[in-house]
Amino acid sequence: MDIQQRKKEDPTMTNPTIKRRDFLKTAAGTAAIGLAPLAVARAATDDAVRIEDPFHGAVLNHRHGKAVSGGLEIVVSGVAPVGKAVTVNGAPAERQGDKFKAKVVLREHETDITAQAVGGSKQTVRVVWDRYSEPRYRFSVDDNSFFLRDIAQKKYASLFDSWYLDIYRKLNKKYGAKFVLNIYYRTEDGFTLPDLSDRYKGEWADNADWLALAFHADANMPNRPYEDASPEKLIADLDRVAEQIVRFAGEATYSPPTVIHWGMTRPTAFKPLYERGVRVLSGYFVHRAKTGWDINYRIDAKRSEYLSKHDAMKDFDSGVVFSKIDIVCNNTPIADVVPKLEPLTKDPNTAEIMDLFTHEQYFWPFYQRYIPDHAQRLDATIRWVTEHGYKPVLFHKGFMGGRA
Ligand SMILES: [Zn+2]
Repeated sequence: MDIQQRKKEDPTMTNPTIKRRDFLKTAAGTAAIGLAPLAVARAATDDAVRIEDPFHGAVLNHRHGKAVSGGLEIVVSGVAPVGKAVTVNGAPAERQGDKFKAKVVLREHETDITAQAVGGSKQTVRVVWDRYSEPRYRFSVDDNSFFLRDIAQKKYASLFDSWYLDIYRKLNKKYGAKFVLNIYYRTEDGFTLPDLSDRYKGEWADNADWLALAFHADANMPNRPYEDASPEKLIADLDRVAEQIVRFAGEATYSPPTVIHWGMTRPTAFKPLYERGVRVLSGYFVHRAKTGWDINYRIDAKRSEYLSKHDAMKDFDSGVVFSKIDIVCNNTPIADVVPKLEPLTKDPNTAEIMDLFTHEQYFWPFYQRYIPDHAQRLDATIRWVTEHGYKPVLFHKGFMGGRA
């Protein structure tokens, strides 16, 4: 079932904060009924069956149900007209008032769940079962370009004579940490990736199991370069960087993009990105009082709100899974690292996958907002997830880095 279809069936789709029944209780709702066409539409769907949990696109793991032979048993719940029998995937659901509830066993990677009022309407949601899920973390670093320019200028004997890459190597040696560095094609002063020698190709390959390179943008400026760019422009920029990564670092080091600069693209870009190997895109999915949902790849409000409180959600139209970034190290002083991460482990919806994140520029003393203890912040973050049983992964391997 596609989203357009769901939009028609779900009157709350455009405003996740107001449930239909609550809307009808308000003065505005009461006054509107029978007046505005919208209100008529709301009243007419009163008889609709609606699955409230799980969410369409939910990524479910062992924390979301009960392991049974060959599957995961979950509870499906929602609302339907009082007194009408409801089935969920063909089996009778329990009713209480306007609520219904039924157990469903997930046995496949993806499962459609259909709730139907006998002789009435129905709704289908699709969920993903992350069957082999284990607690894991992914570390990605955005806005990379200065270290590549530095390597080109200094002509180091080894890649890790770059103090910047040496930070990551030390974290890899200490914790087994893995990193994906999301890179630009150029810097403002004229360095471009073709300026970089391929003499380090062997060294890149030797470290490809923990150090990956991915496209992020053509350049740091302008801001939000792909927020309203055509998919063709985005893909052309991606291809130019991808070709260079393969040239100077080799296939094994190449990762499809995992974060697009500013976390904003046209949704029509998702499918072309998927076709370039993109499987997971990370964002903030943050709500701002003045401008609404942001750093959310321009997905709708309902799904953005969902992602703000969940590790992941799949967009079936494109095949891309969206991941919620859990910490931005350049914004998080060392003392705030544990208070930021620990609450996530208490909620089954945020406990399984830690999406850890920072930006290159804060490492560089010449940068106006240089953070002297940036490397220590990464150490504190990675130490904590390591001590709490999270395993390092790269999202482009397997299902979100886990066994698929
Ligand atoms: Zn960026």
